[in-house]
Amino acid sequence: MSVIEISGLHKAFGPLQVLRGIDLSVERGDVVCVIGPSGSGKSTLLRCVNLLEQPDSGTILVGGTELTDPDVDIDLARRKLGMVFQGFNLFSHLSVLDNLTIAQRKVLRRSGSEAVETARRNLAKVGLAGKESAVPSQLSGGQQQRAAIARALSMNPEVMLFDEPTSALDPELVGDVLGVMRQLADEGMTMIVVTHEMQFAREVADRVLFMDGGVVVEQGPAEQVIGDPQEERTRTFLARVL
Ligand code: ADP
Ligand code: MG
Repeated sequence: MSVIEISGLHKAFGPLQVLRGIDLSVERGDVVCVIGPSGSGKSTLLRCVNLLEQPDSGTILVGGTELTDPDVDIDLARRKLGMVFQGFNLFSHLSVLDNLTIAQRKVLRRSGSEAVETARRNLAKVGLAGKESAVPSQLSGGQQQRAAIARALSMNPEVMLFDEPTSALDPELVGDVLGVMRQLADEGMTMIVVTHEMQFAREVADRVLFMDGGVVVEQGPAEQVIGDPQEERTRTFLARVL
């Protein structure tokens, strides 16, 4: 069964048609990488899946719940999704541990001890054991992004959405973050990853989607879409980034 089922998704900002009919289904455990030029609608697609943007038309089902149903409990539905952005979006005045426990306690109503235990387990998973009491400014960008991933994981999402999670990082810090994402993929996490890291997409993605102008131009296995693209627009894009 598909964990995410998107059909006919449209979104405009004023006169600007940003998504022009996106269809996408993601099976449990799948890793889908979304590539495409700047302005093609990749972030808007993820933001619609997370209901940070309200779609104009089309349907989005996550774990069988229709997010686009006007009667849906948006907060409940959103809990199925973990989101990691380009910027790390940690609370700068809170320790790493508090960053990971606050939503567990306030949103999931977990006890303090359960929240701390979950946080410590996820910090260890991303290689940040021992950084519990640091504040974000004491961490490198790569460590902050791994803390942001651990925070999202601590909410036990069904699906993780990543929007260019390594684009703001110094090159030498990118590998550690991609390593954590690769590990998550190996463990069977369902993921949609917007990325310019073609090597990561080639090695980790079950499917690659090339978007341009608000439509999915081409999709398929990485070796096909990146290795042997069928569409001229895909070839032009890849020639610029590879
Ligand atoms: P990508 O992530 O592929 O670079 P985006 O989804 O961020 O593309 O943006 C697609 C287009 O939509 C861009 O032209 C962008 O300027 C525009 N856009 C995105 N968000 C908004 C918004 N909130 N209001 C107006 N225009 C927006
Ligand atoms: Mg974007």
